[in-house]
Amino acid sequence: MPEISVIIPVFNEEKNIGPLCSKIKAALTPLKRSYEIIFVDDGSGDNSLKILKDIASGERAVRIISFTRNYGQTAALAAGFEHAQGDILVTMDADLQQDPADIPRLLQKMEQGYDIVSGWRKDRKDAFLTRRMPSQIANWLISKITAVNLHDYGCTLKVYKKKAIEHIYLHGEMHRFLPALASWNGIDIAEVPVKHHRRKYGKSSYGLSRTFRVILDLITVKFLLSFSTRPIQLFGGWGLLSLFFSVVSGTAVILMKLLRNKDMTGNPLLYLTVLLVVVGIQFIMIGLLGEVMARIYHESRKHPTYIVKEII
Ligand code: UDP
Ligand code: MG
Repeated sequence: MPEISVIIPVFNEEKNIGPLCSKIKAALTPLKRSYEIIFVDDGSGDNSLKILKDIASGERAVRIISFTRNYGQTAALAAGFEHAQGDILVTMDADLQQDPADIPRLLQKMEQGYDIVSGWRKDRKDAFLTRRMPSQIANWLISKITAVNLHDYGCTLKVYKKKAIEHIYLHGEMHRFLPALASWNGIDIAEVPVKHHRRKYGKSSYGLSRTFRVILDLITVKFLLSFSTRPIQLFGGWGLLSLFFSVVSGTAVILMKLLRNKDMTGNPLLYLTVLLVVVGIQFIMIGLLGEVMARIYHESRKHPTYIVKEII
C-alpha cells in the first residue's frame, strides 16, 4: 500500500500532464516514501486521457480514474479521495500553476502535528481584476464566517491526513471549504507559502462567475458548521423574534384605536402585524422540518454528531 496518494483532477490539460508527472516523480522520489499518483480525468475532450494511459502503462505508481462526462473539479477530487490508498492525501491542479517541488515542505509541516496543510499562493500569478481581487474578497469573507483562518482557501495544493476528511462528503463546488468543514471535527490546520506560476498551456475552466458561486456555497457551509444539528435554534429564533414584533405592532394598532380612535383597517401597522405572524410561523415550521431532515440525514448515514478521539 502506498503511503502517499497524490490526487489530480484533469480537464483538458493534454500539454501539462507529461511534464507534471515527471516533476512529481522528481519531488517525491528523494523522500523514500511509497506513493501513488491518481489522475482523475473529468471527461476531457482533448487527448488527456490517451496521454494518461500512455504514462500509466509504463509507470506502476500512476492510476487513472476516468469519468463518463465532465462532473467538475469537486467531483473529481471526491473520486480521488474515495480511491486513494495512502494515509496521506495530496491534492493539486494539473495545469502546472503549482509546483510539485513544494510537496515535501507541506509534508514536513504536517509532521509537526497538523492534520491539514494548505498551500498559500503568496505571489499569485493570475489576472488581478477577474481573479486575485475577487479571491481576496472571498478569502476575507470565508475567514470571517468560518472559524478557520487561512490566507488562501482557493489553493488546491494541500496535504490532508486521510482520517481528517474521510467523514466529509463533497457536494457542488465545496472542495475549497474542506478545511472549514473538517474544522468542525476539531482538526489542526497550517498554511505554508507555495510557488505559483502563470498557466502556460491550455486555459482556465473558470471565470468571474465563480466568485458568486463561492459566496453562495459559503452560506451553506456556515449553516452546516453552526446549525446542521439544530436547525430549530436558528429558524425558531428568527420565528420567535418575528412573533415578538408582531405582538408589539398588534398592540400598537389596538392602542391607537382605543386612545386616538385611529381606524384599524386604515392602519399600515395592521398589515405589518399580519405579515410578521405569518413569517414567524413559517420560520418555526422550517426549523421543525430542518430538525426532521437533520435526523434523517445523520441517522441514515449512521454518522454520529461527534467524533471520538480516544477512549481511556
Ligand atoms: N478541472 C476539472 N474539472 C473541471 C474544471 C477544472 O477537473 O470541470 C481541473 C483542471 O484540469 C485543473 C484544476 O481542476 O487541474 C483547476 O482548474 P483551473 O486551472 O481551470 O482553475 P484555476 O486554476 O484557474 O482556478
Ligand atoms: Mg489553474
